[in-house]
Amino acid sequence: MILERDKDLKRLNTLGISAKASWYAAPGSVKEVIELLSDSRFTDIPKLVLGSGSNTLFSGDFNGLVVHPDIMEISIVDITESSLKLKVGAGVDWDRFVAYCVDRGWGGVENLSGIPGCVGAAPVQNIGAYGSEAKDTIVWVDYVDIVTSQERRVTAKECRFGYRESIFKQELKGKTIITFVTFELALDPVVNTSYADVQERLSSTESPTLYDIRKAIIDIRTAKLPDPAKIGNAGSFFKNPIVEESFAQGLKEGNPTLRLYPSSPGFVKIPAAWLIEQCGFKGVRELNVGVHQNHALVLLAYEGATGRELLEFAQKIKRTVKARFSIDIDMEVSVTASS
Ligand SMILES: Cc1cc2nc3c(=O)[nH]c(=O)nc-3n(C[C@H](O)[C@H](O)[C@H](O)COP(=O)(O)OP(=O)(O)OC[C@H]3O[C@@H](n4cnc5c(N)ncnc54)[C@H](O)[C@@H]3O)c2cc1C
Repeated sequence: MILERDKDLKRLNTLGISAKASWYAAPGSVKEVIELLSDSRFTDIPKLVLGSGSNTLFSGDFNGLVVHPDIMEISIVDITESSLKLKVGAGVDWDRFVAYCVDRGWGGVENLSGIPGCVGAAPVQNIGAYGSEAKDTIVWVDYVDIVTSQERRVTAKECRFGYRESIFKQELKGKTIITFVTFELALDPVVNTSYADVQERLSSTESPTLYDIRKAIIDIRTAKLPDPAKIGNAGSFFKNPIVEESFAQGLKEGNPTLRLYPSSPGFVKIPAAWLIEQCGFKGVRELNVGVHQNHALVLLAYEGATGRELLEFAQKIKRTVKARFSIDIDMEVSVTASS
């Protein structure tokens, strides 16, 4: 197992923030995860699980153990006439997994093409895009309990998935090392082109295939989103707030450009990007941090940015939105406590 001291994390997070971890380990199996947790050097120090660092903001150095589960196995655990269950290791790159399914004609995850990260992180915030969410295909999640070192399994229902939410961000926050995620994929898939951009791009394609969907989505994403290899970012920095419909309708009266999206009964989702743009932050740069010029939801970390600087900038945006609209916008990005 890879085990390193004083690990530089700059290349292990897509924001490119410099931070150090006292220890870094990459266990390659459940057995190695359990061995790591029972190592006396690590029993009493803080632990942080890291996939590809595409949704993580290091607010400072991490004085503890960073664990990168490097479990790469993929196996079919059940198959029926209409679907199969695929158990996928937490360390598998998410988009490679999507490509693997699309290549074999297994449907369900193709709309989530191009999302950075590891499979183990997908259930944590129930990744979603283009009319689809990870919860649509996840059947269960296996993890090792960080405190007891016991292996556990939670069903999709027990995961209590919501919009960028799950039990792993609530009761189980910081308590699990997800080792495997099991997905149910359709053998005779029906493609989902419900999202306007996808529909438009495929308007001249008769009977689009999984591959057509994947290609369309990757093209849309590449054209729209900044590449973390070129400029540090973590995709959407904030979640879209969910507010009471009556409140949102009142806001819309004075702001005709505001679009509302359905949520649970009586509630609607307001685009956080619209709120941030209205507050004048779109395209703004302050020293080493800023907001993308085309995407007000994407915060940028220019070379030399520190985690603290980005966090303070994000808090300033949050305060300004609150003061102007009386709406709280929560961070989608997971902020590590510097210890
Ligand atoms: C350019 C860009 C575009 C993006 N687009 C989207 C999008 O369309 N939709 C979307 O939902 N997200 C999007 N994201 C966010 C990100 O890709 C996802 O949240 C992804 O799932 C994060 O995976 P990761 O492995 O990088 O997680 P990390 O950033 O490493 O970790 C994220 C959180 O999950 C926890 N975690 C990670 N792995 C495990 C594990 N094995 N066990 C327990 N906890 C774990 C971490 O502790 C942390 O709290 C985007 C990010 C970028 C940079």
